[in-house]
Amino acid sequence: MDLIQSIPKVDKLLAEPACRRLLAVHPRPVVLAAIRQTLDELRTATRAGELLAADLEPAAVTAGIERRLATGEAFSLRRVVNGTGVVLHTNLGRSPLAPKLRAHLNDIAFGYSTLEYDVAAGERGTRYAHVEQLICQLTGAEAALVVNNNAAAVLLVVSALAAGREVVVSRGQLVEIGGSFRIPDVMRQGGALLREVGTTNRTHLRDYRDAITDQTAMLLKVHCSNFAVVGFTAEVTVAELAKVGHERGIPVVADIGSGNLMEWQGIPGMTEPKVQEYLAAGADLVTFSGDKLLGGPQAGIIAGRAAVVNPLKKHPLLRALRVDKLTLAALEGTLRLYRDERQAWTEIPTLRMLRLTADELKKKGQTVLRNLRKQVPSSLALELIPGVSQVGGGALPLAELPTWLLAIRSAECSAQELEKGLRQQPVPVIGRIAKGDFLLDLRTVADNDWPAVIEGLRAM
Ligand SMILES: *Cc1c(COP(=O)(O)O)cnc(C)c1O
Repeated sequence: MDLIQSIPKVDKLLAEPACRRLLAVHPRPVVLAAIRQTLDELRTATRAGELLAADLEPAAVTAGIERRLATGEAFSLRRVVNGTGVVLHTNLGRSPLAPKLRAHLNDIAFGYSTLEYDVAAGERGTRYAHVEQLICQLTGAEAALVVNNNAAAVLLVVSALAAGREVVVSRGQLVEIGGSFRIPDVMRQGGALLREVGTTNRTHLRDYRDAITDQTAMLLKVHCSNFAVVGFTAEVTVAELAKVGHERGIPVVADIGSGNLMEWQGIPGMTEPKVQEYLAAGADLVTFSGDKLLGGPQAGIIAGRAAVVNPLKKHPLLRALRVDKLTLAALEGTLRLYRDERQAWTEIPTLRMLRLTADELKKKGQTVLRNLRKQVPSSLALELIPGVSQVGGGALPLAELPTWLLAIRSAECSAQELEKGLRQQPVPVIGRIAKGDFLLDLRTVADNDWPAVIEGLRAM
């Protein structure tokens, strides 16, 4: 008999117990689509002579349908275990939010809210008001505004303050961040003319002074977040720049990048500028990200003098860059934690992970190791080894955080196969390979991630 004839029909498959179970958990159109796609593939493979009669038995066919539904029905954007040790991993969503915000985010996401409603006045309010006071309290700014991300913040500032005029920037600060954010491109997009001063390694105050004309709209300082220039270098401080700007009546803007509010004592290389220090030194405006060192949601924060910030609130571009209620809820929640420094260090995962010491991580690793040994197959060898984690997210390229790594070796497969297998689990476990070992950095794996790691290792 022709093998094609023995491919089961849709009706017959639908009556199989396995498909009936699938119908109980998936919508009928989804199950039907999976059946049709599976049968199409079987027909093609049969014509190509790739299949045996056993492959077309109903049990084999329903197993294929189950597999298709299991993979095809998984969310595309889903949780992963970050075992890379890169704390601000842009590809893995940068900052995880503080668990304390869970109940509040739930309220805002699934109900109506005061997003643009002033409860006291009983009339229309503004969405930006929810975080402005907090930002001002924490940074010493007079006014603040929040947009989609820091790239949007810089674009808005340039468009509003410098369209058709000149922005003076040091040649050492014409940076590219993450491939798509380049200072010269943002200038062009904002309609401003870039006036480069100084050289790659050294720029002096007189360079800025000499470049100022009646066309100058802004002096811009960009923080070199993701690289370091060492050796014979000179950079003008924000205080010096502010002095010149104020003498000449030109606003001084600093794109700080990471949004650091904390003092990082005892961690070598953790020398990120503090937002409040830049403002205190006289910057008229600072812009920074919400999801880098601040540890909140993706957002761009603009903070500074009221006379410079307030006109931005009326700029037409703002409507296109505006943040939604979930971002604002997460940002307000994160900023509230900063009102008590001790609370910020313990509750904000980004800050907590970055501050973990090698000793703490080793102790954590020993507990994890004891637990894992009891639960994973004996073909897996586990060992704790010392290593180095990175801050990531285009911040602190020189900071080296000593850490402990869990090295996993399998008697049955290579490190590459282990890496690929774990990455393809329902909860992907992302690690790295070094010197032939598959490694998970204890710094970025949360306590409640380990069950997913164990499940992944068992499924290998
Ligand atoms: C990260 C960074 C940006 C871009 O910020 P996003 O929030 O990712 O848009 C811009 N400027 C500097 C200096 C940065 O470090």
